[in-house]
Amino acid sequence: MRFAVRRIFCVGRNYAEHTREMGGDPQAEPPFFFTKPADAVVDSGARIAFPTATSDLHHEAELVVAIGRAGRDVTPDKAASLIWGHAAGNDLTRRDLQAQAKASRRPWDMAKGFDQSAVVGPLRPGPLGDGAIRCRVDGRLTQDARLSDMIWPVEAIIAHLSGLVALAPGDLIFTGTPAGVGPLTPGQTCTVEIDGLQPATVTVG
Ligand code: MN
Repeated sequence: MRFAVRRIFCVGRNYAEHTREMGGDPQAEPPFFFTKPADAVVDSGARIAFPTATSDLHHEAELVVAIGRAGRDVTPDKAASLIWGHAAGNDLTRRDLQAQAKASRRPWDMAKGFDQSAVVGPLRPGPLGDGAIRCRVDGRLTQDARLSDMIWPVEAIIAHLSGLVALAPGDLIFTGTPAGVGPLTPGQTCTVEIDGLQPATVTVG
């Protein structure tokens, strides 16, 4: 069965170590969001073309939350009731275009929302507890953290986001990446592993 994706929201800087590696202050600000087009979704196991317009494609291992019930201005204690399920995901990023956008105070759209930029593993319905989140590039461990290392836990993310837009069934939320992001080069295979979920794998052609 396929989950009909409506919109894709992504959280920036949601793990303290990654915030520091990107030059930010983890205590400084509430969560912020950017988006990807719904048709940027790539199934796990796909082989994607190396994206155009970049020489620095990066992996970002992330927990993906799938929304199954509508809600706006939801409080954190009610946020879990909107969740349909979870998946492992990879927020592929043109890091060089993102750096240019930051330097010139321009939007991140072309750094984040390009074709085939949202790798999503099989969705598993129901709740998900704490566990490890890891990324491997050709088997080499590059990211290794716990979901509980998130600055803003999933319930807080949903509460904040639902105060900005009305969430609806089909929305996906990429919940941010831990430290250890790095480049993917042609021919490499990148696998995101989250305890309790099937991995999300992509090969760069
Ligand atoms: Mn990300």
